[in-house]
Amino acid sequence: MEEQATVENVIIEEKISKSNGDVIIKRYQRGKTLGKGGFARCYEITEIDTKKILAAKIIQKNTLTRNRARQKLISEIKIHKSLHQTNIVQFIHVFEDHDNVYIILELCTNQTLNELIKRRRRITQLEVQCYILQLVNALKYLHQNKIIHRDLKLGNLFLNDKMELKLGDFGLATKLDFDGEKKKTICGTPNYIAPEILDGKIGHSYEVDIWSLGVIIYTLLIGKPPFETQDVKTTYKKIKACQYTFPDHVVISDNAKSLITKMLVLDPSKRPTLEQILQHPFMTSNPIPKTAHISTLVGPPSMS
Ligand code: ADP
Repeated sequence: MEEQATVENVIIEEKISKSNGDVIIKRYQRGKTLGKGGFARCYEITEIDTKKILAAKIIQKNTLTRNRARQKLISEIKIHKSLHQTNIVQFIHVFEDHDNVYIILELCTNQTLNELIKRRRRITQLEVQCYILQLVNALKYLHQNKIIHRDLKLGNLFLNDKMELKLGDFGLATKLDFDGEKKKTICGTPNYIAPEILDGKIGHSYEVDIWSLGVIIYTLLIGKPPFETQDVKTTYKKIKACQYTFPDHVVISDNAKSLITKMLVLDPSKRPTLEQILQHPFMTSNPIPKTAHISTLVGPPSMS
């Protein structure tokens, strides 16, 4: 028998209490699964009244029994809710029922740069410039608002139907009370984590996002992360020693090498600022398109 991908007919109801005591119900039709994360499952959903198609991140409350998990979700919602910028996944709404918390987000139909790199292995310099320009825009906005993302990686860089890059997942983000504040919590994703986070004692700040951005540029151009090894312990050792090389078999420009080399340095204060990254020859030597072409989801851009 032929297998068919069926989508169950599930309706999500949001009860909205009006100030006059009335309760109205907003209904959403749950569509296909978009992905699964640590706590959440993400679905395409349609707001039935308006036919608007959105994404819903659904978190089962019974997975939030530990206080830390609850606090993390509350912090993610509080930070994400406050953000409004073209290159950040728009937070639309949050509500809950007896069993779940529902986070309604702008839908990004073209997956993440992680899937893109799995399909393409590596992408061209012009594509990298285009994605980095959009990501730096998002980061300028975050840092101006005293927010550090702390989990920049290909899997958190979404693409919408217009191929606009949207930074998402604020589960590890933090808001500083003042610019000189140093955070000490260990967090991040092994391949992309900055050395000062691994150290733990000295504290970290905005510069951890610059390190991860350097790891992202390297990974997009080369096709694998700079510090990747078979086990996390060895990866951490390499990060702490800033031990990585540019492989001979992939040709990348001297400008690309120069920028990556400036970003992946152990001393956070020596890394370039977002403004300096934008001024680097890697980003200024040619005109950069606003978005990548849809055809580049599956193959390199045509030369014409
Ligand atoms: P967690 O925080 O639990 O890791 P994520 O935010 O990473 O959950 O979401 C899990 C998966 O759902 C993602 O890897 C992605 O595939 C998908 N996803 C999340 N947000 C969106 C969105 N706005 N549009 C489309 N897909 C999304």
